[in-house]
Amino acid sequence: MTPAAISLSDILAARERIAGRIEQTALVTSSTLSETLGVPVHLKLEHRQTTGSFKLRGATNAITLLGAEERKLGVVAASTGNHGRALAHAAKAEGIRATICMSRLVPDNKVSEIRRLGAEIRIVGNSQDDAQVEVERLVADEGMTMVPPFDHPGVIAGQGTLGLEIVDALPEVETVLVPLSGGGLAAGIAAAVKGKSPSTRVIGVSMTRGAAMKASLDAGAPVQVEEVASLADSLGGGIGLDNRLTFAMCRELLDDVVLLSEEEIAAGIAHAYEAEREIVEGAGAVGIAALLSARVKPAGPTVLILSGRNIDMELHRRIVCGDNPFAGEPAA
Ligand SMILES: *Cc1c(COP(=O)(O)O)cnc(C)c1O
Repeated sequence: MTPAAISLSDILAARERIAGRIEQTALVTSSTLSETLGVPVHLKLEHRQTTGSFKLRGATNAITLLGAEERKLGVVAASTGNHGRALAHAAKAEGIRATICMSRLVPDNKVSEIRRLGAEIRIVGNSQDDAQVEVERLVADEGMTMVPPFDHPGVIAGQGTLGLEIVDALPEVETVLVPLSGGGLAAGIAAAVKGKSPSTRVIGVSMTRGAAMKASLDAGAPVQVEEVASLADSLGGGIGLDNRLTFAMCRELLDDVVLLSEEEIAAGIAHAYEAEREIVEGAGAVGIAALLSARVKPAGPTVLILSGRNIDMELHRRIVCGDNPFAGEPAA
């Protein structure tokens, strides 16, 4: 284990810190998936977490680790998705100022959602890179603390608390399927699960379109991949060429990474809705999709993490009606 990596004791400490500030979500049995797969399959209903994704765990833990001076000056991030929502909510709950930087191209509904959660919005430039430059300026000039979405020890430990809840509820778990993008969730969960139950397999699941962690693991070092629109939009984006923690942890702790087509992800969303009666976003459906497509064949009790539910409801309606706008080859 690399010395910088997050350990089981860090995650146990995170659980103490964030207790009462996040929901402990339910682990329920899926009778349809259990019948289909021939092993018990359980769903961790983390899409029901406050703000609609697990990202509240990491953001809350990162904020509870701030010193008095840092709390006074506030936190900043460039994420417009689930991390931005989570950070806005977590900061407000602690009475801390949060600023979320975003480009002019971010749709109005995303901007107003993050403002509604209590963050200050700073709109700059025409790209995510421009927004990140503003984040760095606020850190340098105003002394704010940047809370990144995955490559941060407090964030990883916070996401890892999900792994503790899984092993506590189901000590005999054989396989855990984890949605994988930057790897904060997978690194944290794998450290917790393997810390408690070394023989349990932890498998990362991404989409074929733009799987940065998978490409980096294959290359042996962080690499950039082209970003392509995907139904699993929360799994898009790179891992950072200067990645400090999640790349090494995923390389050491994940047993496998599997990739899914847009059609397979759509089938996961539809199954979640029709058979499980759950509304999940693309990233939240990849565990179900990996089982339905038989890309993962578990040999014993299996847990899937439904990681988020923040999907545009018009898109959700289309997907469950069998009309998938992301199907086929990506537009050139
Ligand atoms: C961020 C996110 C992921 C991926 O988490 P990483 O830590 O970046 O790997 C998966 N599902 C949802 C819903 C997310 O918001």
